[in-house]
Amino acid sequence: MSRRLSLMALDGRPPAFDTPVPVGQLYFPSWERYRAAMAGVWERGWFTNHGPLVQELEQRLATFLGVRHAICCTNATVGLTMLMRCLGIRGRIAIPAFTFIATAQAARWAGLEPVLLDVDPETHMMGPAQLQPLDDAVPAAVAGVDLWGGACDSIGLAAWAQARGVPCILDSAQAMGVCRAADSVPRVFSLHATKVLSATEGGCVATDDDDLAALLRNMRSSYGAGAPVAVPVTANGRMSEAQAAVGLMSLQDLPTNISRNQQLHAAYMEALRDIPGVETLQPTGAYRSNWAYLVCRIDSVAFGLPRDGLVRFLHSHNVLARRYFYPGVHRSVPFIGAAAAETLPATEALSACLVQLPLGARTDNAVVNRVAQLVHDAHRLAPQLRQALQGAA
Ligand SMILES: *Cc1c(COP(=O)(O)O)cnc(C)c1O
Repeated sequence: MSRRLSLMALDGRPPAFDTPVPVGQLYFPSWERYRAAMAGVWERGWFTNHGPLVQELEQRLATFLGVRHAICCTNATVGLTMLMRCLGIRGRIAIPAFTFIATAQAARWAGLEPVLLDVDPETHMMGPAQLQPLDDAVPAAVAGVDLWGGACDSIGLAAWAQARGVPCILDSAQAMGVCRAADSVPRVFSLHATKVLSATEGGCVATDDDDLAALLRNMRSSYGAGAPVAVPVTANGRMSEAQAAVGLMSLQDLPTNISRNQQLHAAYMEALRDIPGVETLQPTGAYRSNWAYLVCRIDSVAFGLPRDGLVRFLHSHNVLARRYFYPGVHRSVPFIGAAAAETLPATEALSACLVQLPLGARTDNAVVNRVAQLVHDAHRLAPQLRQALQGAA
């Protein structure tokens, strides 16, 4: 899908937006706050290696998340890789095929082979029901993934794993600020710029397990932090002071940003309500969402256009709507063929019909209304757009 700035939209009009409207959260502190925070970093002359801001962020995150340990690191992919490596297992790890590729890549970096399972067609997440095919071939670990500001059934996944004596972890990259029923599953959050809590880049492993935390702190860098314990390998997964400074300000702003997201989400629900073939998803499995994802399911027959046609129309209006996730992990290099498509009907269907619309710092009510109007237009102009898309193909 083209990301070039469009000069003329597919319906022959000038684009609805002069500059591209991104999908990611992109909440950042003001330049003044950033400058003041950086001045402190420069004054101390302590730029990385588990500095005071990283330590403060870890404490604040542990309190916020209600866990004994929050271990901050470079990004969630490195956090997942370290966590999987710390489990001390070999062999296969069960993950959903409908996830961001990083879940599967982290498994490979940790020397594990991902077993790709389907997801629930309603929640879009993997739960204990999806693990059933593995009853006779139990993997070495299970990794659930939280999606769309919701929470997967981590209690069910953990119970399945515990009954078989294998560890369970979570890719909670999307789930900072999501409140769910308490479990004791170690999890990894992403603090990437597109996520609701941003350190520009960053990740955080959260756990109540003291031994696991010690392993992670020693694996995170070659000099370690805290009491030294033996680890099989060390990494450079350190978070810098600059990252932590942004993360701390973002954590301060989190309640405001989540409320803002919630209001925008509600505005989209209202504005997209009456369009045939468009279903706006509500977060599931959590009692409080971070409202960071606006995901629609497109029924191509009722809507008049397939999902990809709508995405190309929106791109031509400089709305950078995303096919999220497309394709499934089983169709992505280097995992092509890792699972047969027939075993993943929900993943196959979802990767063909979901679209993610802008929500976050670059979106306001006016943007929501204009984007929703474009979706209306795409439905109204569907016959004409089908022809234009054929010509352009
Ligand atoms: C964003 C995301 C990641 C990767 O996070 P990074 O911090 O960019 O490494 C992993 N899994 C899921 C589900 C994500 O959405």
